[in-house]
Amino acid sequence: MIAVTATRLYTPLECVEAPLLLIEDGTIVEVSSRAARSLPDGARVMDFGNDILAPGFVDIHIHGGAGHDVMSADSAGLAALEQLLASHGVTSYFPTTVTAPLDQTLSALDRLAAEIEKGEQNRSQGRARPLGIHLEGPFISHIRRGVHRAENLLPPTLASFDRFWEAARGRIRVMTIAPELVGAKEVIAEATSRRVCVSVGHSDADLNATSAAVAAGARHATHTFNAMRPLDHREPGIIGEILTDPRLSADIIADGVHLDPAIVQLFLKAKGPEGAVLISDATAATGMPDGRYRLGSLEVEVKNDRCTSEGKLAGSVLTMDRAVRNVMQFAHWDLQAALRLASLNPARVGGLPERGKIEAGCFADIVVLTPAGEVKATIVGGALPGM
Ligand SMILES: [Zn+2]
Repeated sequence: MIAVTATRLYTPLECVEAPLLLIEDGTIVEVSSRAARSLPDGARVMDFGNDILAPGFVDIHIHGGAGHDVMSADSAGLAALEQLLASHGVTSYFPTTVTAPLDQTLSALDRLAAEIEKGEQNRSQGRARPLGIHLEGPFISHIRRGVHRAENLLPPTLASFDRFWEAARGRIRVMTIAPELVGAKEVIAEATSRRVCVSVGHSDADLNATSAAVAAGARHATHTFNAMRPLDHREPGIIGEILTDPRLSADIIADGVHLDPAIVQLFLKAKGPEGAVLISDATAATGMPDGRYRLGSLEVEVKNDRCTSEGKLAGSVLTMDRAVRNVMQFAHWDLQAALRLASLNPARVGGLPERGKIEAGCFADIVVLTPAGEVKATIVGGALPGM
């Protein structure tokens, strides 16, 4: 048994002073405090002093990092990415595809599913774990496709959704779709019935088409404001629906590049601590020097924290811990409130009931932070890297 202690713990909804967290076989068995409970005999103690314990971060939208793109990386490349993620507090992630030629997408889904299955058999220590796939494209709007290639977009049909589903052996957990496309409603309903979280995005939809998607089962929105019809006060469009409908959670890229800090504040006021989610949308360039990197079948250029392809923003070099600190800075939220947007909320979106919180029975995925939100250590499945 391992006993973990620190100055404070955020579950994240509750705060425990002088916590005592007991872990056995990679699972949290008890959450208590040093005042309320003595150390069990023989427990190995990890004392993090003046630092704070919080649930490991869950990134539901990430394309790569450490020089590797998830659509083409081999096992060693994904391992390098997963180490980088763990160093930024991420313990679970959903590798995210970009629109690509069909055969490339199908083989990427097959490979990513194999990595997820491998992780279930054999827990890799000290690395973030892939737990599902986010299919971003090809069912997206031509005019709001961003850098996704026009020639590879597909109209949503049950037949093509099923091909992706089969290739991924049912591991698709989030799917971004433009609700205004012909056929979208049927695909949204079918994906929802297979417990995929359908997320509206890369879309030029008006308010009615978006609320029809919600009626069909859509429950989330992808990088709100980016690659969407802009908000207009007489034609509120997709953003009007996202900001006002409590049935939708929504995510943002809080890197200070994709959205002005004032828009981050506006978004957080609208979606609140229950509905807001942070993502990285990180590319292979994350954790690397400026230069040229892959994003699916595209090449992106990174300079001064901006990741672009042919002049358009193309993903980010954001990390989840920095997204949390940016929320604290841009919107003056405290650490406990900001943490929830990177842990509990994305775990709910991803349908991961045993992650994103510190509670008996949950996986022992813990990030150790300074009060300013800097990562000091990350525990994945009860183990520190290298243990
Ligand atoms: Zn993306």
